[in-house]
Amino acid sequence: MSTDVRHPHALGLGMTSERSRHRLIERLRGIGAGDERVLQAMARVPRHQFVDEAMASRSYDDTALPIGYGQTISQPFVVAHMTTLLLGEGEPPATVLEIGTGSGYQAAVLAELVRTVYTVERIPALYRRARTRLLEIGYRNVRVRLADGTIGLPDYGPFDAILVTAGAETLPEALLEQLREGGRLVAPVGGREGQRLVVIDRHADGLDRQELDPVSFVPLLPGVEE
Ligand code: SAH
Repeated sequence: MSTDVRHPHALGLGMTSERSRHRLIERLRGIGAGDERVLQAMARVPRHQFVDEAMASRSYDDTALPIGYGQTISQPFVVAHMTTLLLGEGEPPATVLEIGTGSGYQAAVLAELVRTVYTVERIPALYRRARTRLLEIGYRNVRVRLADGTIGLPDYGPFDAILVTAGAETLPEALLEQLREGGRLVAPVGGREGQRLVVIDRHADGLDRQELDPVSFVPLLPGVEE
């Protein structure tokens, strides 16, 4: 048994999970989910370390999984798709704000691709778990905050890109205000009739909005839980 100290990701990572992770990435590539940069980033992130042990055997299935407190880690297909939309065509954004840390998995994928990730969670237990996990795996460029993401992170913005991973009936105005010119926001938006992915680009002369695929995220809720 050897431990490769150059790769903190490899700690506690059996060959089984490595192989199933690569199978998952191959599958995503096969169905055209996510561009190559994103798929290669996802190939480096140990998703099994972002779910409870009881769920670990399913961590490389292409499905959302429960993470406790009524919340879920997103489906890999959706992570690949949203991350690809967020990066856009050119240089990747330097700073990204994620609303809805959850397990911390999406933040880790972003951390592989951009300089600094700010991620916000409203449930204290999930916040603590994700923060510890990201540190233990070795992510130094993720700032995790316990806060109400509907007001964004005004002290740290504006951001080059904003990714919302909980569904809002209407997009909070504060998030649009914290989006830098030339920046892009991706969010699931919609009420009872169903959510759709919305992509908003901020240009010098205003906002450009596209509505894309139907999605199904847990709700974006106001306030921080006690
Ligand atoms: N990105 C996560 C999955 C998101 S699940 C991952 O990779 O695992 C959605 C998360 O958004 C939940 O953890 C939920 O508690 C959180 N959330 C909902 N409303 C929020 C708000 N206003 N501010 C911050 N987090 C919020």
